[in-house]
Amino acid sequence: MRNVNLPSGNSMPAFGLGTWRMGEHTDRYQREVDVLRAALDLGVSLIDTAEMYGEGGAEEVIGEAIQGRRDEIFLVSKLYPHNASRNGVIEACERSLRRLNCDRIDLYLLHWPGSIPPAQTFEAFHALQDSGKIVDFGVSNFNLGDLENIPEPDQAQLGCNQVFYNLAHREVEWEVADWCRQRSIPLMAYSPLDQASSLLRAPVLTEVAARHSASAAQIALAWLLHQPNTVVIPKSVRPQRIEENLAALDIKLSTEDLAELDKAYPAPAQPVRLGMR
Ligand code: NAP
Repeated sequence: MRNVNLPSGNSMPAFGLGTWRMGEHTDRYQREVDVLRAALDLGVSLIDTAEMYGEGGAEEVIGEAIQGRRDEIFLVSKLYPHNASRNGVIEACERSLRRLNCDRIDLYLLHWPGSIPPAQTFEAFHALQDSGKIVDFGVSNFNLGDLENIPEPDQAQLGCNQVFYNLAHREVEWEVADWCRQRSIPLMAYSPLDQASSLLRAPVLTEVAARHSASAAQIALAWLLHQPNTVVIPKSVRPQRIEENLAALDIKLSTEDLAELDKAYPAPAQPVRLGMR
């Protein structure tokens, strides 16, 4: 598995599995556990989740799926902004760990910016690091102003900014991506398939895909994986698609491919804020 380095010196896999919409229905519980286990068997080694997903349900599914296999996985979870106070973060993390049925989260993120002063949140992140409950910390959906509000020593230690990023949504490239790259902070691209929108039927993707005997989804992922220091976390509940998505790691886009994709989906040319899903 290709890895991406974090400012702490740790590394994480460049490909992970998203879990939004999992853990929402008890009648799908066993199927979702089985899908996650199949994903591990296929070589998936990063799982992204959040206390929000299924209100803890997704973390419970993961907790069952990774039993006996915790060390195969780089685990990312996120806390609600309304839990981002000094004590709120600690309590939210402990609840997540109970549901995940394990003793540490590898990368713990603030899901989006809220109204609680960031100094409190980051103080709690350090306390969680000291007690070994999290390894690295980071943020999600942070625009430039939000990043600059983080206490300065912590800015440089962010394990990632998890952002809405795909070919059809390149808002992050306006200024956030540069800010992160200057500090070697990885971008974790969420909704990398644009939630299976019309992007996957775009003629340009179909044409590039045909040249690589690949699918449009694989090309969308390969394009993101071509961006520096970028992790993708596509979600699927179908092992066949997870295998297909993983194979995007082996696709090397040519200069011609990249130029065609760039022409059809240009980077923003004027100030724009991050999108959010
Ligand atoms: P996504 O990964 O872009 O797309 C998921 C959709 O694509 C699902 O409907 C899936 O259907 C389908 N799909 C997967 N592989 C496919 C393939 N090879 N061909 C065609 N369709 C395919 O969207 P997402 O779930 O929004 O984003 C991924 C993850 O990012 C989430 O699960 C979550 O972990 C994270 N996320 C974070 C935030 C945040 O605010 N930080 C926001 C949104 C998402 P099937 O499942 O039926 O295969």
